[in-house]
Amino acid sequence: MSRSRKPARPSADPGDLDRAMREVRAVYADLAERPIERDCRGRTECCRFRLTGRTPQLTRGEALVAASGWRAAGRKSVPTAEAADGACPFLGETGLCQIYRDRPFGCRTHFCAAAGGMMDRTGIIDLIRRLEAVDETLDGDGPKPLRNAIGEVWEAVSRRRRR
Ligand code: SF4
Repeated sequence: MSRSRKPARPSADPGDLDRAMREVRAVYADLAERPIERDCRGRTECCRFRLTGRTPQLTRGEALVAASGWRAAGRKSVPTAEAADGACPFLGETGLCQIYRDRPFGCRTHFCAAAGGMMDRTGIIDLIRRLEAVDETLDGDGPKPLRNAIGEVWEAVSRRRRR
């Protein structure tokens, strides 16, 4: 993606945010309908970024959905301290993803070798384009590492929750 860098847009209209999140969830639902063999059992090895050497990259719409999933349980902040294994801030002490229903696209398609490995991009490119389109409507500037992406939208998600 070669768009120029824009500032975070935490004050986006709440209607825009709702529409964006509906579309991202629709993308996730469409992905689940694809006849792509997958065996994610929540093993969570892929959630320890220093071990895998990879960090999920989120578009702004994905970040909104993930942050909303976290905030929905009444949580007031995202953990900032990083674990030695680089564990995802959404990985709970129980060893389970705390936002599994709202986890980003990359967590569904890219990481876990045991779940099937990286999906063939050509089979999901239309879904990637839809996420990019949402990113543009939110004045995003492309995918970012998970913590950065969440940090950019957290205030907007918290404000929306307080409405
Ligand atoms: S969002 Fe969930 S599935 Fe994705 S890396 Fe974090 S804990 Fe793992």
